[in-house]
Amino acid sequence: MSALLGFVRVLLPRSCPGCGRQLGAEAGLCGACRTSLTPRTEWHSPMRPQPEPHLVTLGRYVGPTRRAVRALKFGGAHDLSGVLGQTLARGIPPGWGVSCVVPVPLHTSRQRERGFNQSMLLAEVVGRELGIPAVPAVRRIRATAQQAKLHAADRSANLVGAFRADAALLPRGPVLLLDDVMTSGATLLACRDALNAAGVHQLYYAVIAR
Ligand SMILES: [Zn+2]
Repeated sequence: MSALLGFVRVLLPRSCPGCGRQLGAEAGLCGACRTSLTPRTEWHSPMRPQPEPHLVTLGRYVGPTRRAVRALKFGGAHDLSGVLGQTLARGIPPGWGVSCVVPVPLHTSRQRERGFNQSMLLAEVVGRELGIPAVPAVRRIRATAQQAKLHAADRSANLVGAFRADAALLPRGPVLLLDDVMTSGATLLACRDALNAAGVHQLYYAVIAR
């Protein structure tokens, strides 16, 4: 289905997924939407007790950012992973010294349904920009209810034991864990726990929006 949507998108005059304006030669987003995306580093206390920023994001899940993420995820607009990933990569401080990018996985049944994992597409772009590998080292070992449909208190419980990390796939050094959208942070924390269990203790985070 997403391949068909991708094909249809090539044939039709394209409009910007962020604002609806007609696109010229630009791939992905129009110039105005591009400049509205500014990477910033933030701090999210449950992830790390020390108050230094360790999360890169392009901002809130509203407006052009929200529409661009939805077009990437549900509209087959794979070209958006280029502009979103490149912008995100610009915000990653060199001082973090990340050795690889690990995408948050979809469960295989959902990935089969969708045909791709948007976080893997983004991780590949970010990795290319930073000159480090994108490594799908975290696997979802059981299907979970969709986080968006649960109350905050149920989100962490829903994810207990849902992920496993394979240490053998990872290079040495800090890991950049990447997801498209962060809501409560429960998914990133469950993936962090899986990476901790595999011996990875230096982690940074990147999300398109929160
Ligand atoms: Zn636009």
